[in-house]
Amino acid sequence: MRVLIADEVDAECGSRLRAAGFEVDEKFDISYDSLKSIIGQYDVLIVRSRTKVTREVIGLGKNLKIIGRVGVGLDTIDVKAAEEVGIKVLNTPQMSTVAVAELVMGMMLSLARRIHLANDSMKSGLWEKKKFHGTELNGKTLGVVGFGRIGRAVAERSKAFGMNILVYDVIVDEGALARLSAERVSRVEDLLSRSDVVTVHVPLLPETHHMFGDSAFSSMKQGSFFINASRGEVVDTGALLRALKSGRIAGAALDVFEHEPPETPEEKELVSMPNVLVTPHIGAQTREAQSLGAVLIAENIINAFKTL
Ligand code: NAD
Repeated sequence: MRVLIADEVDAECGSRLRAAGFEVDEKFDISYDSLKSIIGQYDVLIVRSRTKVTREVIGLGKNLKIIGRVGVGLDTIDVKAAEEVGIKVLNTPQMSTVAVAELVMGMMLSLARRIHLANDSMKSGLWEKKKFHGTELNGKTLGVVGFGRIGRAVAERSKAFGMNILVYDVIVDEGALARLSAERVSRVEDLLSRSDVVTVHVPLLPETHHMFGDSAFSSMKQGSFFINASRGEVVDTGALLRALKSGRIAGAALDVFEHEPPETPEEKELVSMPNVLVTPHIGAQTREAQSLGAVLIAENIINAFKTL
């Protein structure tokens, strides 16, 4: 079986597949046109985010049996086109749970203590001790919207910081709720009006597209913080901008954007605001997450071939 790894994936993936008898080619910088010209030779294609697996690529992949993505979402793969011709699509949804949760903790602490702003101020030669009064997380309420893998991991860590946890989800893990003494609300507005920090961890679905618009932001507690490390399209950029400008929200931290990199005037204005902390979609960018993803995709592929 021939495997093409078309994006930069930790070397452990290729090693495990070779040890299991697969012939593996690693072409991490392959162009879209080159991919189209050689895909017909491979049984398995492995990608991260760079390579877009379009209907066209799938059509040319006459021998393809499996497409594997080292990552959570499948938005870069035409899953429907793959399924139509009986190609299995596999991913590694567990790989970045800890990485994203730890990034969110960093964002929450930085919003509360203004670490990013104090750092910028000192690096510009100033010593503005009085300016950097912050707030403490201890005793505050965290609202977790989407209590899946990442939402639960953030809640667990926030509990250790002395926070009270409110949860909104369409399905709820009662065991995790009880373990964290978390309270579930049945209307998202109730969570928004009571939380000092709101963190969003829902998938991007038609129902969650622009879930955070003017109405949701107007329900948020005055002076609260908002964090999004889920998907950019879950938030209406213009509405977030208005909520920040009106002072309803004291600060926001964003790892994801409606366009990546941000391109509209509204997105650019958001990025430039001092009370908005931004990172370029680095949620899963840790050594540990990438290495776990590489191992998981290799194992998933090896196991899938046992049942093909
Ligand atoms: P998950 O599937 O484990 O959890 C998602 C939760 O959202 C589930 O409990 C689900 O019931 C809930 N949900 C679905 N629709 C909902 C709705 N309409 N209202 C309320 N809750 C709803 O997913 P996860 O692994 O925790 O990932 C969460 C998000 O993080 C996803 O959007 C994923 O794409 C994103 N993510 C981002 C990065 C990054 O680099 N920033 C990395 C990994 C994942």
